[in-house]
Amino acid sequence: MTRLRRIIFNVFTVFSLALCVAILGLWVRSYAAPAGNVVVRLRGIWCGAHSESGRIALGYCRAREAPDASGDRDGQRWHWESATGRDGPWRTLGIDCGAVHVTQSSVPFLASLPSMGALFSVGTDGRFIRLPWAFLAALAAAWPGVRLVSLLRRRHRRAAGRCASCGYDLRATPDRCPECGTLIKASAPEIVGL
Ligand SMILES: [Zn+2]
Repeated sequence: MTRLRRIIFNVFTVFSLALCVAILGLWVRSYAAPAGNVVVRLRGIWCGAHSESGRIALGYCRAREAPDASGDRDGQRWHWESATGRDGPWRTLGIDCGAVHVTQSSVPFLASLPSMGALFSVGTDGRFIRLPWAFLAALAAAWPGVRLVSLLRRRHRRAAGRCASCGYDLRATPDRCPECGTLIKASAPEIVGL
């Protein structure tokens, strides 16, 4: 592995670990704290996020009008009426996605969102996806996990007198692997970053 490639891999691993820790924190917080909402407008599209009891919902809507500040419209508060999810293999992972529509009734997972209801009241359907925090944490942990397995395998190979890269037996050629050409450093072990 070249030095640059190793540095990139290590930086990405550290970033993934930090992301995983942050996700785990938000996961725990989703049970402990009241539901949190964030709504922003990006290039005319309203995007919302809602964290609640182990899951995060992300939705968007191409609203023609901006929601008013109070989240009310015509004196009535609008909420997401339903989150119509589609069946699919992702359901077993706890992932839910589909369309949202707006009426005046309450919504299972975004009922407390103050402005989202109003932004969906312009008659435009939106899309949403709900993901378990645990699923996102597993995604973030995947790459560090792969690196850890690789590190342990290389250490095991070196301890057994084999090439760390390809596993070739180096007892006859301790300086260089005849199979893959890896140079073997006699005094200093090869640096393998996590
Ligand atoms: Zn080798």
